[in-house]
Amino acid sequence: MKALVLSGPKQPFEITEVPDPIVGAGEAIAKVFACGSGLTIQHVKAGRMSADFPRIIGHEIAGEIVEVGAGVSGLAVGDGVTSYYYINCGHCRWCLSGYEPLCENCLGNVGRECDGGYAEYIKLPAHLFVKFPKGIDYKKHPAEMGVAMDALATPYKVLKRGRVQPGETVAVFGAGGGVGIHQLMMAKWANARVIAIDIAEAKFQACREAGADEVINPTETDAVETLMDLTNGEGVDVAIDYVSSTSTLEAAASSLGRHGRMVTLGGAGGSFQANALEMLLKEQDLLGSRYVTRAEILETYDLVARGEVWPIVTDIRPMKEAEAIHERVEKGEVTGRAAILIQ
Ligand SMILES: [Zn+2]
Repeated sequence: MKALVLSGPKQPFEITEVPDPIVGAGEAIAKVFACGSGLTIQHVKAGRMSADFPRIIGHEIAGEIVEVGAGVSGLAVGDGVTSYYYINCGHCRWCLSGYEPLCENCLGNVGRECDGGYAEYIKLPAHLFVKFPKGIDYKKHPAEMGVAMDALATPYKVLKRGRVQPGETVAVFGAGGGVGIHQLMMAKWANARVIAIDIAEAKFQACREAGADEVINPTETDAVETLMDLTNGEGVDVAIDYVSSTSTLEAAASSLGRHGRMVTLGGAGGSFQANALEMLLKEQDLLGSRYVTRAEILETYDLVARGEVWPIVTDIRPMKEAEAIHERVEKGEVTGRAAILIQ
């Protein structure tokens, strides 16, 4: 099969022929139509996240099952699928209680510890394939349906984690990023008032189109002060931080009002100081959020199938342009998501 192979970190993609995967017991193979090109997999390519090389990266796939191994039930040839990002066990107490990203036997991630979606075929343990629900036209929109499993599902889960209620004010730090912009969309879908915070002026119009009622540029104005002004001094109900540097985390925590919830995910994962007395007096929650469950992926696709939300994919390229697309991802030039068509 044709694949985009990385021989090591900081190396260019090589389009090359590699052996077709051979299905084993408990596994399945899907033909890949498209795979998203997000910052997470660029981190692997750039050597900022570890992986076993040589490696085929990519996990935001839209594909179709072509082979099913012995002992697999509930999955058949012809099923449209995406993949789950974590190689979780499916059997531990965390997997069984709706916390699959916290699996205690997790073997890593698709596209890092096993080969991923930048190839004609992908082989995975069968339980990692998630079937598209009815109404998902993955053949017509493979790029959009591929990226939804992460870029849309992750912010959908954050709405739950932050307990976002209609009419509340939600501030998104790093709103111009690939997942951040989808967070704006999901918060708007949840009938919140949405405030975007980002330094990339070029993304501001897209932020507004995605759902931001206000956009704050923290290089021009103090983000916390502006958030206080915009909420009559009350503070925001939910602050979601996709940058998670010390300064954004402290700004997010400081911007919370009574019963405020802060959610951190992705980004730098820095340490920060928060005021315990503020937390007590205002009953605030400081929360972490890690990817999604498979059920949340299904719920997200149901929203897409009903036409309530739609992934923002602005750059779709053939395999031979993978290097160019990743250069744009590295520079933060892509609005929403980019994706590669596998053909
Ligand atoms: Zn588990």
